[in-house]
Amino acid sequence: MNSLNLNRLTIKRALELLDEGKISSVELTQACLERIKKIDPEVKAYLYVNEEWALEQARLADEKRKAGEHGKLLGIPLAIKDNILIKGHPTTCASKILQNYIAPYDATVIRKLKKEGAVFLGKTNLDEFAMGSSTENSAFFPTKNPWDLERVPGGSSGGSAVAVACRMGLGALGSDTGGSIRQPACFCGVVGMKPTYSLVSRFGLVAFASSLDQIGPFALNIEDTALLLKVISGHDPYDSTSAPREVPSFTQILQENANTKFRVGIPKEYFEHELHPEVAKNIEEMISLLKRLGHEVKEVSLPHTKYAISVYYIIAPAEAASNLARYDGVKYGLRVEGKSLIEMYKKSRAEGFGREVKRRVMLGTYALSAGYYDAFYLKASKVRTLIKQDFLKAFEEVDLILTPVSPTPAFKLGEKTSDPLQMYLSDIFTIPVNLAGLPGLSLPSGFTRESLPLGVQVIGPHFRDDLVLSLGYQIEKELDLETIPPIVKAL
Ligand code: GLN
Repeated sequence: MNSLNLNRLTIKRALELLDEGKISSVELTQACLERIKKIDPEVKAYLYVNEEWALEQARLADEKRKAGEHGKLLGIPLAIKDNILIKGHPTTCASKILQNYIAPYDATVIRKLKKEGAVFLGKTNLDEFAMGSSTENSAFFPTKNPWDLERVPGGSSGGSAVAVACRMGLGALGSDTGGSIRQPACFCGVVGMKPTYSLVSRFGLVAFASSLDQIGPFALNIEDTALLLKVISGHDPYDSTSAPREVPSFTQILQENANTKFRVGIPKEYFEHELHPEVAKNIEEMISLLKRLGHEVKEVSLPHTKYAISVYYIIAPAEAASNLARYDGVKYGLRVEGKSLIEMYKKSRAEGFGREVKRRVMLGTYALSAGYYDAFYLKASKVRTLIKQDFLKAFEEVDLILTPVSPTPAFKLGEKTSDPLQMYLSDIFTIPVNLAGLPGLSLPSGFTRESLPLGVQVIGPHFRDDLVLSLGYQIEKELDLETIPPIVKAL
């Protein structure tokens, strides 16, 4: 067992070792649990770890393998963001209002992972109800960046990104409404993918902004990401927005496209934004790399980019205010008694929700209120269409688009908490992708002088998740980066 080097163990490699009988899922799961005991007190990625449950699933996976079963993820330990339901286990959304909530059913993605034999280690920390970009909005505690414990891991899926970066799980699921998978992946030096809207069912994902939310994978490399994505994708009658179409084998396509040359667009408006000098330098290096690999790189224009944040902060809070109306002290979670029904509602919500959630509910309620709907929500929806059309037009000329993931590397804990607008602005490169419903991939692309991870985003046309992953695969191979955080190396 000591020969098992968790630091370099991908899902693909673990599956080989399991199939060859060199390791068991129990050993692998145990190794992850030991890692969690050692490192998680420092980084605080997990809200919930259940050893007994994890080992029981691992034992079952080992039995199945012995019986000749071959699930695509049989015996692989994963971490799940705590806004995705796993039957019989807590789902808190990092909110006091759901502190004692136990999920009564499995999310579709969980059902699919179970079918392929995955092992769940626990649930990971997030910004409350996935509202934030730093995981500091968790009602319980902030998660820390394993590359520098004074910095944020990004958010809202910060816990899942850190779990994978620290090898406290071989892969993870997160959710992405405006960048919540891609930005933490970038800040933590792992791969994260937001699939095309409707590729992955959201049944059993606690709703934040339903026209934007997508579930997606985190992993150490593109192949693992492609494998996880394949497993969780596909039509689901329980989610009316899920697309009734065949899902290709992404891992196979990676190999087929290993030398395919693409036309790659660089959106000029993304460079009008203030970029951290090392982010700017890194993206220039990535452009040179693409040219060196023989891809055709050209400038494209996404002229409505400048409205993306404003549009998002009308649409997302409006949908959030509607979705969060269900937390009323009656149906779910926290209930604080009052003298009347109204007082009970008020008290439950006042005590149950944190500041950022309340801010969003107020923004959204205002934007949807009588007389304001046309001026705000309807107008934002129209501008959203223009943003989407910008992309569709660009994709007439190019196959894929390359951008930075975030204008800066991981920022300091507390640096942006007193100024919500500064926090919102950090999502400028990821939000347009959700507004347009496109697939977006974040992959490690280098380091700053201070050894903080940098990342690059690949955006593709609707349902071309395969192409997005294919270009990512080529970049990853060429860069061949070592992405093991110092705190993990020191073990
Ligand atoms: N940071 C964005 C927000 O606060 C996006 C969050 C997300 O993708 N869930 O809404």
